[in-house]
Amino acid sequence: MKAAQVYNDKIVVNTLKDIQLEGRKGAIVKVLGCGLCGSDIVKFKHKIVHNGAVLGHEIVAEILEINSDSGFKIGDKIVSSHHIPCGKCKFCKHGNVSMCEHFKQTNIFPGGFCEKVYLSDEHLKNVAYLIPKDITEEEISFYEPLGCCIRAIKRCNLSKGDSVLVVGLGSIGLLMAEGLKAYGYNVFGCDLIPERIELAKNMSIEAFNSRNLEDFEPLIKSKTEGLGVDAVFMTSGADKAIDVALKTVRQGGKILVFSSTPLNNGYPNNEIYYKELTVLGSYSPSPADLKNSYELLVSRKVNVKNLTTVYPLDKIQQAFDDTISNKIFKAYIKISQK
Ligand SMILES: [Zn+2]
Ligand SMILES: [Zn+2]
Repeated sequence: MKAAQVYNDKIVVNTLKDIQLEGRKGAIVKVLGCGLCGSDIVKFKHKIVHNGAVLGHEIVAEILEINSDSGFKIGDKIVSSHHIPCGKCKFCKHGNVSMCEHFKQTNIFPGGFCEKVYLSDEHLKNVAYLIPKDITEEEISFYEPLGCCIRAIKRCNLSKGDSVLVVGLGSIGLLMAEGLKAYGYNVFGCDLIPERIELAKNMSIEAFNSRNLEDFEPLIKSKTEGLGVDAVFMTSGADKAIDVALKTVRQGGKILVFSSTPLNNGYPNNEIYYKELTVLGSYSPSPADLKNSYELLVSRKVNVKNLTTVYPLDKIQQAFDDTISNKIFKAYIKISQK
């Protein structure tokens, strides 16, 4: 089976030993395609993974072999996520499922950028869903990334009609904005790249260039009764984005951290204290968040059209390069035909 593996600063397509179920519980699936996640880019760029690693976790697949009482059968087309919480530990009991040890250890094998993947019985029972006929592979491939956004939205616990600013309008920022709209919030977005702002506007998101903060701050305030937004969602990994958040959030508002920043400078103590701000992080989705994501995609309450650029597996290096250079929004690696 062909797989894309990390080798130093390259992604190389190699032939690996074929995998079979061999009596195990779970399923072997043919990967139809897999979305390229921002976290794959971070792992590749910062060499967080070992040589030979197969990245990718946003898989759309067809079941080839199965041994499970999950209800799925051979030939079913499914979408699956990669981590499953134990449900019993301190973290799970407090709702911090993505900090659960079991969650961190579970994964799909060997990785999504591969012709075949092994899914455990736990995957099939907790985080896998059948794909309806009327939705495209590219659309449903947003199942896991939208799940991440929904987790962030739920963690903020806002009230209907609240105003929200999404800082950073890359694919995840646009997806976040779409999710926030679906939950009934009043959404603004900002970025520095004109094409991103344009695409956001085409998706009916009120989007602005935040390059001149001295103009942008009063603009956002003029749209929020002079107060600032109830919450800022930080999908940008730029250190400067923190300044945007602090200037535009209202007193008593929330800042949702959804990205790492290169300098890791953090949020200033005194702003948090005097403005009574809440700064909170959100990482990876729970099975419940994923269920919400699936429902929003299938009902098309969240629009993911026009976000994806498709690349064949052989061109995966190009997909990584184009994502890193902001040439495209979201890459979907097409791996096998139906
Ligand atoms: Zn992802
Ligand atoms: Zn747990």
